[in-house]
Amino acid sequence: MNILIFGPNGSGKGTQGSLVKKKYDIDHIESGAIFRKHIGGGTELGLKAKAFIEKGELVPDDITIPMVLDVLKKSSSKGWLLDGFPRSIAQAEKLWDALQKDGEKLDYVIEIKLPREIAKARIMGRRLCANDPNHPNNVGIPAIAPNGDKCRVCGGDLSARKDDLDEEAINKRHNIYYNTEDGTLAAAYFYRDKAAEAGFKYIELDGEGTIDEIKDTLISQLA
Ligand code: AMP
Repeated sequence: MNILIFGPNGSGKGTQGSLVKKKYDIDHIESGAIFRKHIGGGTELGLKAKAFIEKGELVPDDITIPMVLDVLKKSSSKGWLLDGFPRSIAQAEKLWDALQKDGEKLDYVIEIKLPREIAKARIMGRRLCANDPNHPNNVGIPAIAPNGDKCRVCGGDLSARKDDLDEEAINKRHNIYYNTEDGTLAAAYFYRDKAAEAGFKYIELDGEGTIDEIKDTLISQLA
């Protein structure tokens, strides 16, 4: 089972992604998380990527594309859920070519739709759990408000991502996401246009619902 998931930062993409990953027992490959791991480990790749990430800019393709394709190749035989990649039309094309070359099939492409202003407010309120980054905690959304200053799911310590509190960086990230010419939405539409002919399903979800509502709609559309 191979799945792509699209959604602006703040749409709950990571949360829904981890649910889908559990349902099919596939690898959850998050490009941003791979970068953060490299940065945490002080690798050469991490050092190169850090400045771009802190500014909310895309890490250049010559670093990002080989890194993601390499992780995909090494993923489990059950398949993968790719999250955060592709983020541009160029990455979309490169991924498509790599899948064709390797004889890999896509099964679903998921797009979570959310207006830009709502996405921005959600990002500024979200907090990361030290035990599991996909535990939902957001000081701006009552349904998933943290328990004091601790994770509402497991009581773990919470922190905010540096790039989540920087409004300019958020705007930059959203400029990239909502760009339908050659940005991330263009990448999503690239796959939407291929869905019927290539035999995979393109699922559009309303990101304004609650986590459970979105989850129920999503699960009902997956086989
Ligand atoms: P995310 O965790 O998905 O918000 O990603 C955090 C940051 O990692 C982004 O703001 C980019 O700087 C970088 N990044 C993640 N995925 C990509 C990608 N596909 N292409 C370029 N940069 C990326």
